[in-house]
Amino acid sequence: MAKVLVIEDNLVNMKLAVLLLNKAGHTVLCAGDAETGLTLARSDAPDLVLMDLQLPGMDGLVATARLKQDPLTAAIPVIALTAMAMNREQTRIAPCDGHIAKPLRYQELYAAIDAVLGTRGLGTGETPGRGPARAAAETPAASAAAVDLGVLESLVGRDPSVIREFVGAFRIGAAQIVPELKAACEARQALPASRQAHQLRSSAYSVGARALGELCAELEAAGRAGQAEQLALLLPALEKEWDAVNACLDAMAVPRADHGI
Ligand code: MN
Repeated sequence: MAKVLVIEDNLVNMKLAVLLLNKAGHTVLCAGDAETGLTLARSDAPDLVLMDLQLPGMDGLVATARLKQDPLTAAIPVIALTAMAMNREQTRIAPCDGHIAKPLRYQELYAAIDAVLGTRGLGTGETPGRGPARAAAETPAASAAAVDLGVLESLVGRDPSVIREFVGAFRIGAAQIVPELKAACEARQALPASRQAHQLRSSAYSVGARALGELCAELEAAGRAGQAEQLALLLPALEKEWDAVNACLDAMAVPRADHGI
């Protein structure tokens, strides 16, 4: 089992990574920004670093370059965590030893770790659950459900306790972000709205709340473009979708037995 340093600023994504790594028996060190991550890499000598590319302050690529330049940390493999639809990042992740697209899916994560550490079966023997989770993830969102359990299972596996813990972390994080996002939209504060929408978007996709994620992407783009009126126009749809996501998660609070292990 490996000691893995995760450098990720989104709390829900961090929770997902920690859950999946622990599930596979790995020890996890957490850093919410690159500076903290570099310090931990030097002091705790992890076997592997999972590096988010979009970080506040120093970004993940600069941090990776620093790790590779430092004799103390140069040998530590780095797997980049790339955001969705970020194809142009492909050419920029050269200093990294591997990359995975977010949201993290347990199969891809374990496969990437095995590839980099050269320890076949290190995590794959303990995949959290079985079944055609991969196929579920690739099915187009035909379902009108605000949270797609198939997507969620493809991310974290089918262990009800893992699903419950992850959904709980999402709800705690989102419950803080949503009021701030609403307030920023109402006040037509484009930049703060964009920042909050960015955080919620990433978390929403990680929990299988695709429609909420797409709405957040629109809000983020509007905010970044300074389209304050557009923020106010999108707000009712956000509130409606947030309610739908909550209703869906309420219903999921105790996963059905046939969805268990
Ligand atoms: Mn980030």
